[in-house]
Amino acid sequence: MKEQLIFLNGQFVSKKDAVVSVYDHGFLYGDGVFEGIRVYEGNVFRLQEHVDRLYDSAKSIMLSIPYSKQELSDLVVETLRVNDLLNAYIRVVVSRGVGNLGLDPASCSRPQVIVIAEELALFPKELYESGIEIVTVATRRNRSDVLSPKVKSLNYLNNILVRIEAGLSGVNEALMLNDQGYVAEGSADNVFIVKNGEILTPPGYVGALEGITRNAIMEIARNLGFSMREEVFTRHDVYVADEVFLTGTAAEVIAVVKVDGRVVGDGKPGAVTNQLLKEFRKTVVEDGVKVYEQQIV
Ligand code: PMP
Repeated sequence: MKEQLIFLNGQFVSKKDAVVSVYDHGFLYGDGVFEGIRVYEGNVFRLQEHVDRLYDSAKSIMLSIPYSKQELSDLVVETLRVNDLLNAYIRVVVSRGVGNLGLDPASCSRPQVIVIAEELALFPKELYESGIEIVTVATRRNRSDVLSPKVKSLNYLNNILVRIEAGLSGVNEALMLNDQGYVAEGSADNVFIVKNGEILTPPGYVGALEGITRNAIMEIARNLGFSMREEVFTRHDVYVADEVFLTGTAAEVIAVVKVDGRVVGDGKPGAVTNQLLKEFRKTVVEDGVKVYEQQIV
């Protein structure tokens, strides 16, 4: 098997050599930002949107990425090429870099850019056909006015606590509510409900990341003629929905068939979810930056 190469410190290194300093503020304080991106059959899905979101997150925390957006996009593509990957999950991390033990990022001389690409299926394949069970948890979403969920930062403790609670309940994923009790999102994905043919997802201000998969699904739903709205809703609305599904770069589109012990609809992935998933799978291979342009044309 070919050795996996990771971009670190301006060069490609083997996985075993891809180590960062204990003085990196990404490690010491979660000071940094990241993106998760997918490539499908050689097409990087919505690369521009991911790069834009990475730069927005970085701007928000006053982190200056030492590459132009084009250079960073090229790096993502290069990482796929050197690893011969056509279908993969890509993680881009920009940490504040190496500094001293103090909190002040002024001691950090240069942000560290890391690009990792590898094959990944978040959930076992059969769960995409059967749907998953989730719970709602006690951990609330970070308040937008404290640490904006729109910043995809290395501070994922809020989400990790959710995942721990999900594990304690014996399920793979969970929903967070915001401080007012409205449904915000999953630990690493956005949530949608379908009721009487209408599709709803919480608006960003509730405390949801404006997911790139979420945006794609909203577009697909509207193009298919569905009524698709961003609207606040509660746990009750999730319990009585006809269908529930989650979206995310890692999760893709996955049906939810049980929430807090309540069976959703008839306990199977619903027709709307299946239709959106089918269209999504078509879109991701047709739409995107081509890694191996020459071979594909
Ligand atoms: N919410 C959170 C908290 C996430 O970490 C993610 C994964 N990036 C998402 C939603 C889904 O966003 P996207 O579709 O852009 O991956």
